[in-house]
Amino acid sequence: MVVNLINPYDVAIAQFDEAAERLGLSQAMRAILRKPKRELIVNFPVRMDNGDVEMFTGYRVQHNINRGPAKGGIRFSPEVSLDEVRALAMWMTWKCAVVGIPFGGAKGGVICDPHKMSSGELERLTRRYATEISLLIGPDSDIPAPDMNTNPQVMAWIMDTYSMHKGYSVPAVITGKPIGIGGSEGRLEATARGVMIVTREALLDKNMNPERCSVVVQGFGNVGSIAARLLHDELRCRITGLSDISGGVYNPRGIDIYRALRYSKEHGSLRGLPDSEPVTNAELLELPCDVLIPAALENQLTGRNAARVKARLIIEAANGPTDPEADRILNDAGITVVPDILANAGGVTVSYFEWVQDLQRFFWAENEINDRLETIMKRSYREVAREASEQGTHLRMGAYLLAVENVARATESRGVYP
Ligand code: NAD
Repeated sequence: MVVNLINPYDVAIAQFDEAAERLGLSQAMRAILRKPKRELIVNFPVRMDNGDVEMFTGYRVQHNINRGPAKGGIRFSPEVSLDEVRALAMWMTWKCAVVGIPFGGAKGGVICDPHKMSSGELERLTRRYATEISLLIGPDSDIPAPDMNTNPQVMAWIMDTYSMHKGYSVPAVITGKPIGIGGSEGRLEATARGVMIVTREALLDKNMNPERCSVVVQGFGNVGSIAARLLHDELRCRITGLSDISGGVYNPRGIDIYRALRYSKEHGSLRGLPDSEPVTNAELLELPCDVLIPAALENQLTGRNAARVKARLIIEAANGPTDPEADRILNDAGITVVPDILANAGGVTVSYFEWVQDLQRFFWAENEINDRLETIMKRSYREVAREASEQGTHLRMGAYLLAVENVARATESRGVYP
């Protein structure tokens, strides 16, 4: 495992500062956009299966809501910290602006290890956390979604808890729900589908034939496992490396992705996958390949390992996988990085569709969802690529320039209250 020593909030601020400087934003606007608007810390008790009561800490941060209600996932992990949630909330603000959907940025998290908790404990933790943050969340104010270690079941518990307090069903309070209670077709694979679309566009720009490309994916959860499958099925890429928290597996001739999906489901991890050799997560990032897709967590590519990356294209499916020093090294080496705020925006885009469908009580077919997602992801990729080329910069800065300018303009037109 690559040890996370870098504070993601420092990374988020450094990226913002560079964009603000290039855009020539006023000092006042920089000061406003650098700070989260609201930060809620909740400490709450949960009764465990053995009868003991344990205290947990959770957060909900709203970075900016000038373009619309706050939107952002909820993460359950022992690594969650206030600064991590702040960074993720800020990235959500830029992400919604890059793809032009009317939301501001937020994020939430609880410090816990869901793998060591029973389903009953997880449900009680989720329902209590949802109640604690109900000060902030609501269909018009702040709409959470899944993130690391949270899934449609956790979303269903949050929707139910919020609805119990109101006395009627409020599906639009959260996205990523099961279809039967107001979830959207296509949401489960939306982030990965967006990753597949931007990978296809970036390969086109680099004159690389997807059918001749080898792909390594770090992280085999919602985003990583489905992205690997879609890249195999729809782009005909060869998947040569995969990993999860237990480590990685490698086969330069190609891994049978369906076998890997079955194996991981049966064994709880990829460890020991037949027809592959084991590698560590650190080694995985340095494997020879054409496309590298970090789809796990922050700060995986840093000044310490970026020079050894052999991929020609990096697609940031995870949030914040590359720190600014690695960015410089990769850029100097001519490696293209499709940034997180663009690459993984398919999830929030279909979350937006889910919210609209819930509010209208009118649901769309899967092909309609996928077509609209395709249009938005392709258009956003092209806008970012054009901006980057016109400004003589890389894709991350191109995306930041568009996003920060949009949010600054919205903030400017609303003015400073009172
Ligand atoms: P998940 O919990 O479904 O999967 C996470 C995967 O990462 C698992 O396979 C886990 O074993 C692996 N992992 C965890 N720690 C690791 C480590 N130290 N080294 C290597 N692998 C590790 O989470 P997810 O929803 O797939 O999210 C993955 C990333 O994508 C996160 O950065 C998240 O913020 C981002 N993201 C998710 C969504 C979404 O819709 N779920 C949307 C946008 C961005």
